[in-house]
Amino acid sequence: MKKIFYILLGLFLLNSCGAGPKKTEATKPEKTQKRPNIVFIISDDHAYQAISAYGGRLAKVAPTPNIDRIAKEGMLFNNCLVTNSICGPSRATIITGKYSHMNNFIDNTLGTEFNFSQQTFAELLQQAGYKTGVLGKLHLGNTPTKGFDYVDILPDQGTYYNPQFINKSGQYQIEGYATEIITDKALKWIDSVKNINQPFMLFVGHKAPHRAWQPGPNELGMYEGIEIPEPETLFDDYSGNRKVASLNYTSIAKAMKMAQDIKITDRRQGGLNTKQQKLWDSIYSPINENFKKANLKGDDLTRYKYQRYMRDYLACVAGVDKGVGKVLDYLKEAGVDENTIVIYTSDQGFYLGEHGWFDKRWMYKESLKTPLLVKWPGKIKAGQVNNDLVSNLDFAETFLDLAQTTIPTDMQGNSIIPLLKGKTPSDWRKAHYYHYYEHPSEHDVRRHYGITTDRYKLIHFYYDMDVWELYDLKKDPNELQNVYGKPEYANVQKKLHKELEMLRIKYKDNDNLNQKFINEYNEKVKKNPHIEYWKL
Ligand code: CA
Repeated sequence: MKKIFYILLGLFLLNSCGAGPKKTEATKPEKTQKRPNIVFIISDDHAYQAISAYGGRLAKVAPTPNIDRIAKEGMLFNNCLVTNSICGPSRATIITGKYSHMNNFIDNTLGTEFNFSQQTFAELLQQAGYKTGVLGKLHLGNTPTKGFDYVDILPDQGTYYNPQFINKSGQYQIEGYATEIITDKALKWIDSVKNINQPFMLFVGHKAPHRAWQPGPNELGMYEGIEIPEPETLFDDYSGNRKVASLNYTSIAKAMKMAQDIKITDRRQGGLNTKQQKLWDSIYSPINENFKKANLKGDDLTRYKYQRYMRDYLACVAGVDKGVGKVLDYLKEAGVDENTIVIYTSDQGFYLGEHGWFDKRWMYKESLKTPLLVKWPGKIKAGQVNNDLVSNLDFAETFLDLAQTTIPTDMQGNSIIPLLKGKTPSDWRKAHYYHYYEHPSEHDVRRHYGITTDRYKLIHFYYDMDVWELYDLKKDPNELQNVYGKPEYANVQKKLHKELEMLRIKYKDNDNLNQKFINEYNEKVKKNPHIEYWKL
C-alpha cells in the first residue's frame, strides 16, 4: 500500500507540481552563440504598483520611463512571486536558487550571516568563464568570500546619504547619494570589463526605495503639492474572517513613525552634511510648519501620512529610475547592449497603502509579487507580457542557463529562458510555494506558508496560532474575503491542501532540515497537532 502511495506521489509530483526539467535540449542555447553579459539590477522594496509599465493608480502621477523601457524593448512578467517576502532571505534565494530552509537564511534576525561556503550562482558563473561583480546592497550580513571578482557593497542596510562601502581592501565612505553613487560605480565597472575576452555579470543592488525613504538631492520635493491617489483598501477594516491581518503592526495609522518615516521632526536627519541638510530643511521645514498648524487626527491624519509616505517613496523610486536609464544608455554607448541581457527586479513587493499598510512579509498579493522586466536584444521580442508563475527561485538557474553551463540538480527553480523566447514548457509550475519565518519581530506578521495558483491562494499561519485562509483571486482580487471552510469551496480546499503537501515534499520543507528551527517550532507548538501532515 505504502509503495503504491509513493509511486502515485512521484507521478503527482512529476505531473502536477513539476516546474520543468532542470535541463532540456530545447532550453539549451546553441553552442555557437556568444554568451550574453548579464546586468541584474535589484532594488529594495520596490512595489510593482510604483512601476508605470504595470499600470495602476500611480502610473500617471509617478511614471518610471526608464524602467518601462526594459519592458517596451523586452518582456514584462505579471506573476513573479517571491519565496519569502523579506530583504536578506530573498537575496539568499536569488544567489542560491534555493528556498530559505535550504540555504539557511530564513530571516533577518535568526542566523543573520549568509554562509558563503555553500554553492552560489556567482561561483558557478566564474567557473564557466564569466567575470562577476556585486555592487551596492547585498544585505546578507557579511561580505562575499568567493564567487565575485569585484565586490563593492554597502554594509548591512547601508545609508542613503554619504554611504559607507566595503570592498576587498576594507570599509570607506563616499560623499553623495547612494542611488547615484551605485549607478556611477556600475558604469565604471562595465567600462573596465567591456573589452575583456570574457562575458560579464554585474549584480547591482540599490538601497532605494527601502524605509525610511530619503529621496536624493535631485528628487527632494518633486511630488510636493501633487495629490497621490489612494488605494481602495487604505481603510481596510480586516473583516471577512481575516483575524491575522487585524493583528498586524504594519499599518500606516499605527506603525508608521512620524519622525523617522514621514520626517515630521525638528531633529536633523542623520548622516547629512551641512549642504545636504540645508537643502533638506528648505523642503521639509515649511511642510512641517503647515502640518503643526493643521492639527490632524484620525482618518485625516492617516490620509496625510499616506501622502507624505508616497511622496518620499516615489521620489526615491524616481532616483532609481534615472539610474536604470543611465545604465541602459551607457550599455548602448559602450557598444555592448546588443549582447547584454538586462534584468530589473526588487527583492520583494511592498504595500503602498493597500490594506492600510506599508512594509512586506505577508503572502498577500502586493508583497508576494515582485516586479520583473527583462530585455535581451534579438532574443526577446519587444513589448511582450508573460503571465506564467515565475519566481526569484528561478534567477540563479536562468543565469547559469545563459552561461550555457550545467544547472546543479539541487537548485530548486527553473531557467526562464524558454519563457523569454515565448515558449512556456507544458510542465511549467502551476502552483507557487511560499514560507515566511520572521516572527516574533517588530511588525507582528505571523509565520506562515502557503500555495498560490493563478486562481486561488491557501495560507497557513502557524507557530503561535493555527489559522488557515483561502482566497478566490478571481472573485476577490484584493483578498478581502477568507473563504476557508465555506462549503462551496470544499473541493478546491481539499485539492489545494494536497498540492501544498506535495510542494512541501518537493521542496524538502519538512522536519529533516533546518533542525534548529524545527526544534524551536516543535517546542513552542507541541500542543497543536496540525503539523502531523508534514510527516507524510
Ligand atoms: Ca526588501
